[in-house]
This record gives sequence, structure tokens and C-alpha cells, in this order.
Amino acid sequence: MADELELPASPHRSINNPTDSGYPVYAVVGNGPVGIRCAQKLLEYSGRAQVVVFGDEATNPYNRVKLSQYLADQLSLADLDNPVHSDPDSRLATFNSRRISTIDRENRVLIDTGGGRQPYDKLILATGSEPAVPDIPGVDLSNVYPFRSLRDTEALIRLRDSDRHICVIGAGALGLEAAAALKTRGNRVTLQSRGQILGGLLGDEGAEYLQNAMTALGVELRTGEPLAAIEGDGRAERLRFADGGTMTTDAVVLCTGIRPAVTLAESCGLETGRGIVTDEWMRTSDPHIYAVGECAEFARRIYQFVRPGYEQAEACCAHICRETRDLSDPRPYRGSPTDIQLKIAHIPCAVIGGEENSQQQYVYRNRFRGLYRLLRLSGQRIVGAVYIGNWDEANRLRQAVADGDTVIGRALQRFEREGRLWEKRAERGIKAQPDSYLVCQCNNVSKGELCRAISQGKRTPMELQQATNAGSVCGSCGPLVAELLDAPAPNLVMRHARGILVTSIISLLLIALALLMPPAPVSESVQSHWYWQELWYDNFWKQVSGYTLLACCLLTATLSLRKRWRRLHYGHVDHWRYVHSVIGGAALAVLVVHTGFRLGENLNLVLMLDFLAATTTGALVGVFMARNHHWTDIKLREHRKWWSRVHYALLWAMPALIGYHILAVYYF
Ligand SMILES: Cc1cc2nc3c(=O)[nH]c(=O)nc-3n(C[C@H](O)[C@H](O)[C@H](O)COP(=O)(O)OP(=O)(O)OC[C@H]3O[C@@H](n4cnc5c(N)ncnc54)[C@H](O)[C@@H]3O)c2cc1C
Repeated sequence: MADELELPASPHRSINNPTDSGYPVYAVVGNGPVGIRCAQKLLEYSGRAQVVVFGDEATNPYNRVKLSQYLADQLSLADLDNPVHSDPDSRLATFNSRRISTIDRENRVLIDTGGGRQPYDKLILATGSEPAVPDIPGVDLSNVYPFRSLRDTEALIRLRDSDRHICVIGAGALGLEAAAALKTRGNRVTLQSRGQILGGLLGDEGAEYLQNAMTALGVELRTGEPLAAIEGDGRAERLRFADGGTMTTDAVVLCTGIRPAVTLAESCGLETGRGIVTDEWMRTSDPHIYAVGECAEFARRIYQFVRPGYEQAEACCAHICRETRDLSDPRPYRGSPTDIQLKIAHIPCAVIGGEENSQQQYVYRNRFRGLYRLLRLSGQRIVGAVYIGNWDEANRLRQAVADGDTVIGRALQRFEREGRLWEKRAERGIKAQPDSYLVCQCNNVSKGELCRAISQGKRTPMELQQATNAGSVCGSCGPLVAELLDAPAPNLVMRHARGILVTSIISLLLIALALLMPPAPVSESVQSHWYWQELWYDNFWKQVSGYTLLACCLLTATLSLRKRWRRLHYGHVDHWRYVHSVIGGAALAVLVVHTGFRLGENLNLVLMLDFLAATTTGALVGVFMARNHHWTDIKLREHRKWWSRVHYALLWAMPALIGYHILAVYYF
């Protein structure tokens, strides 16, 4: 199983006893995103130190933040890869499947579960978190899953594809993303939460908008009653709630929070609270040991996001390397904002800033388009915002909250009327923003840093990501990075969207032609005979076009098997959608050749109309599918679902009608 999950192997060598070399050794325990960031910074800030990274998972380092997009089939395994960028023969050694079990603080040595020893001069603990499992009966049943690691995600992918009723417990960001990613056409997903979704951060009305959007995706929401037990004979079969009510289920996914991994720190006597207690340089109670990321507790706070971890890594590594390199102005860690941005395709949703200092609130809502925007102000200063549905001012708004910008009364009136805070003409592209403009919120990468990297020859989004880290976390700044590079905006949701849109529109035009054009005339004399008529009236050519049409129908039917039969899961579904739409368009062209714009009579007329209706609905589904990720309007998005259902219903009648048509041609 481990082999199946392995990301490409790491080329890094091992460092056995580096203190012999006379260079300092900096060890990092934990190869999650924050541990990897530390290793990168240590190599960068120290010109000579050896860096050793230990991870206990079987895979090479990966980006945990992107797991929900991987589960939702929006990213491939390779997209998760999160290596330390260094020369193969560098001062770096990385180890997977190596769990550190003991820290001998007196001799400054790490000991792993296999007895291996690693001396260190400075140690960074980046052990992250573990899923918090509720203390109720049944959590150890075989089909109860956590959602934290790549291995968990692989298990959930198998579960998602097996068409069952899946109950996701917990409606925080993780639960919402998991439920949306697990929903397929064939399964049923229920999101169960004892409290409000996103812990009430959206407010009642915002929660209702998000709930509607989730319902439109097909996820059922059930809030209120706490879960009391998971019941079943070896496997989870039923959820029992505190009020005695029950719900049957085939599998349970626990998204019930996390708990900092502090066992290693505790066992060697470091001061711990809920996390490992640190000062503003992320130093623990032992001056040679630092703690960063989700395992660290700073000023009585534990952050459950990656951006604070990156900021802590910056302060910690600058402090460790302060003597080896002249770092200009190393800054201590002072705490981080905790904005939330959900990564659910089709449902942009974010909570920006806080509500602590908020004195007034302004709301814009558009029920039809599923838009909800709430602005929090302290005096005239914007201190926070919540939005559900697309908001093209969101980036600028984030910057305004971070800078503590003020707004005038006219802007607020416009906001309540139109949902816009700034005049449209005042809104400018990324190129017109100042260098300080923050493009990647997760990694704190400004437009200025990106421009510097571009001027140093980084010309693709991937090169820019490697140079600056922009886009390496949630990827939502991808379109801005692309705009800076004059590259096409990445299609974050569906591949071939444009191709499918064009093919679908061409198909709709062909259908209109087939219906509106007068039937092709029969030549009245041999002189007026023209080539096309051979196609329409010559028996041989009629058979060629007829069987080609039949082959197109069979091919599209076979393609749809891919969705239903797991063994046929080759390639990404979007490639097959594109092939399906091209074959559908080709079938229409062949239909025109076969019929010569004649609709036929009796059952042939029924066949023709059924075929045209099926292709019309198919083409409409194509249009809605291709445009879906531009739309936030829930009702518009519902169209795709309904047209798909009509499309399938029409297709069911086709085999019998085609069978009759062929029989009629040959035998009557
Ligand atoms: C599905 C999902 C989606 C998320 N989405 C977002 C998001 O959109 N935005 C956001 O900001 N955050 C998000 N998060 C949270 C984010 O992933 C974490 O904040 C981040 O991973 C914390 O990084 P870390 O390095 O501190 O810890 P972790 O990522 O937990 O990494 C710690 C690593 O250390 C290893 N380890 C622990 N103990 C030992 C030991 N003794 N020896 C060796 N190795 C050890 C662990 O196995 C683990 O691999 C998401 C999390 C999940 C699960």
C-alpha cells in the first residue's frame, strides 16, 4: 500500500554524524508543510549548516492543504508534491518512515523507533496535529475514517467511488470540503454537525446561504443534535444522536477537529499546554529546541492554518541562523491573522479578518445569484468581511482589511445597493497594483517579489512557485499569477472547458439546422442530379452514414460506462467529457448527412425527435458544465443537473427506436 502512495523518491543522501564535519546540524522533526518550509529557510539562511528532516509517513513530503482538492479530483497526486528545493548533493538529508521517539536533550541526540541516532545542534519540532476523535462508542469501527493524511485521502477516494451513503461528522472547513469532495452523482452524502456550520463564523444568514449552496451540490445538512454513538456489527451501520434519533449509514468520516501532537515534546520534559509552549522566536523551554506549526502554542494560541506556521518558520529560522549569516532585520513572531477560505469548487466562501472590534455591519445579498456579502467596520475602518459566492473585489478587500483601510459613506451605500465597495472603473488588474500588493495570502508573497522573480527569468507559474512559493498552498492566487505572466488563467475547475463549450454550441447550431432546414430535394432529372443526393438517397451511402451514426451512439454510451465502472477509470474524467462532446457533435453532423434534413414519419419521426432532444439536452449540459465555474448562482448551476436527467431519460428510449429503425429498413 505504501508503494502505491509514494510520491517520487527523494534524491537526498543521509547525514550520519555531521558534527564530525564541524558544521552545525539543524534537525527538523516533521515533514509537513511547515517542517519543509523550515528546512528550506535553514538552507537559505545558513551558508554551511547541515539540515536533516524526519517524517514518519511512508510518502515523500506532500502539501496537506491540497488534500481536499485531490479528494475532489481537481488535482493529481503529483500536484501534492512538496519537496525541499535544493541541489541533489546539498547539505540536506530527508528521511521518510522514520518516527522520532526520544529526544536526549542532555546529549542533543534524536533517537528514532528503530534505534537510529541523530545528533543535532538546533532542533525544530514541526510535528503538527492528529485528528481529534470524539469520545463516543463506535469510533473504532472498521468503516469510520479520519481525514488528515494522504493515506486517509486514498481511502476516502475508494469510499467515494463505491456509491454509498457517507456521513461526514463536523461542519468546520474540513468537514465542508470533505463532504463536497465526496459527493458524486451516485452516492449520498450527509454532513452532520452539532453546531452551526463553520462554527457560526458566517452568522445565521451567511450560514443559510452556504447551506443552500451545499444543498445544491447534493450534500444533505443536518445540524443540531450531537452525535452520541456510532453503532454496527463490526462496521458502522447507524448513527445514534443524543435525543435518541438514528440515521443509517454505510461509512462515517470524522472531521471533528485536531489535537496538537505534543507527545514527543512532553516525553522529554518540554513545557507544554495544549501545544508546545514557545516564545516570540518559537523557542521552547529548551533554548536549543524550537516548535512551529500546528504543534506550537504561542501567546496561549494554537493556529490550525498553514500561514501562521510559515510565519513562525520565518522567525524561528532567522533566529537559529542569526549568527551564521547577517540577516537584515530578523523579526520575532507576533501572531497571525486567521482568514478562512474554503476550497470547494463552485462555492467561493471566505471569512476575512475578525469580528472582535466590529461595531457596524453592512450586508449585500442577492438570493437569486446566491451572493451574500457582509462587511464589518470599526468606525470607518474595515476590520472584517464574510462572503459566499463570487466577489471579484475579494483580493482588494483582503488587502484593505490587512492595511486597516477606511471607507466613506458613499462606498457603503453602493455596497448595500450593488454589492461593490469600489467603483468599477477604479478596480484595476494586478499589473496596476503597487509592489506591496499581497498576491499569495498563504505565503505572504507580494506582487513586487513576483515581479523580481519574473525579471530573473522565471517565466512559468511553476517556476514562479518554486522561486517564491506563490500558489503552493491553496492555489487560489493562480489567476493573478497567470495575469502577471500574461499566461492564460488556469482552469481551476474543469479541463477543456472552452473546447466543450465550443463543441456544445456547434452542436446546438447543427440541431437548429436539422430542424429548420427544408428537406433536401429529390432530383427530378438525371441532369440535375448532384453529388450530395448520393449520400441522402443512395442505399450504400445511407448504410455507411447510418452505421457511422450507430457507432457514434455506441461509443458515447461506452464512455459513460467509465463513470459507473471503477475498473475503467483511465485518465481524467474531463478528458473523457471532452471526447464525449466531440463525438456527440460528430454524430449530429453524420445525422444531417444520413437524413438530408428530413424528419421522417411515424416511429422514425419519434426516433429523430428523440435523438435531437437527447443531443440538445447533452449540448446544454455541455454549456452549463463549461460555464459552471464562472457562476455563483445556485439556480443556474442547478440547470446542469436537471438537463442531465432529461438527457439520460431521452437516451433510454433510443436503443428500442434504433432497433425498430434498422429492422424497418431491412425487412419492410
Ligand atoms: C484536508 C485538509 C485541508 C486543509 N486545508 C487548509 C487550507 O485551505 N488552508 C490552511 O491554512 N490550512 C489547511 N489545512 C491545515 C494545514 O494542512 C495545516 O495547518 C498544516 O498542514 C500544518 O502543518 P504542520 O507542518 O505544522 O503539520 P502537519 O502538516 O500535521 O505535519 C506534521 C508531520 O510531522 C509528522 N510527525 C509527527 N510526529 C512525528 C515524529 N515523532 N517523528 C517524525 N515525524 C512526525 C506527521 O506525521 C506529519 O507528517 C488543511 C488540513 C487538511 C487535513
